[in-house]
Amino acid sequence: MTRRANSPVLIIHGGAGVRGPAEERPARRRAMIEAAERGRAILQGGGSALDAVCAAIVAMEDSPLFNAGYGSALNAEGEVEMDASVMVVPFTAVVTRGDGASAGTIGAGAVAGVRRIRNPIQAARAVMTQTPHVLMIGTAAERLAARAGCALCRPDELITERARARWQNYMGREPQHGTVGAVALDLHGQLAAATSTGGITGKMPGRVGDSAIIGAGTFADRTGAASATGMGEAIMKTTLCREVVRIAARTTPGRAAVVAIRMMEESAGGEAGVIVVDRRGRLGYAHNAQAMDIATFTPADGIRHHNL
Ligand code: ASP
Repeated sequence: MTRRANSPVLIIHGGAGVRGPAEERPARRRAMIEAAERGRAILQGGGSALDAVCAAIVAMEDSPLFNAGYGSALNAEGEVEMDASVMVVPFTAVVTRGDGASAGTIGAGAVAGVRRIRNPIQAARAVMTQTPHVLMIGTAAERLAARAGCALCRPDELITERARARWQNYMGREPQHGTVGAVALDLHGQLAAATSTGGITGKMPGRVGDSAIIGAGTFADRTGAASATGMGEAIMKTTLCREVVRIAARTTPGRAAVVAIRMMEESAGGEAGVIVVDRRGRLGYAHNAQAMDIATFTPADGIRHHNL
């Protein structure tokens, strides 16, 4: 029996937090539409959800306007330390780890505290496809990324004027707006989620946030996939992405996003946003911060940007 093709869909976020300066908004909007466009082209060309979410994330990591890759937030010592993760179901990629182990049907990979990788999402993907592990940290993760062909750089090459100014003005109060995330369903029914961040401005060196933690900042199973942004500590305490996918399987992604954010706020406090797709291609999103940028692609509506 031939399986009915799914309609591919994509949703991306550019972070939840304080509203960014008005003069940046047109450029952020363009950057998000460009990132969504990269994912759309892959999905409509019959490519995988995994390729689509990674392409959208790389586009945003390369932009100085987001808190990920180039433009990452700085820690208390003025340094970049980035986290990223990716999850995909079913996981059908060729695994080149050489130990003969099978890839299984769930793929997950993450890196934490990396400082020299231009596109941390590609390193997270390499952990998933080239090791038997899920999460790798620091310099060992950077070495793996280099072996996998990811571009390395000096840590200061990732620091923008904008991130430096924010760090200098930092008062320790507000989450920085700009972590990036992407979630997609492809024609073949694969669901994927990916998240990448520089974390929170002024964080303690060595602090790891939700964006590296499967189930918290990123999650996918055969029913749905999700990516989060906001106060990582609250997101981790409530495993927000796992929760929103679980709730979406009983309701709709739109309702699940609202319920999961409320549940997080009630039990852990803090501001966050979440995006979610279910296996039927329905999209959901919600946040309790001042602002959150998203862009969506559906075959019916094409690409749309929303400043929530
Ligand atoms: N969730 C990220 C972290 O806690 C930050 C953010 O999304 O703004 O590292």
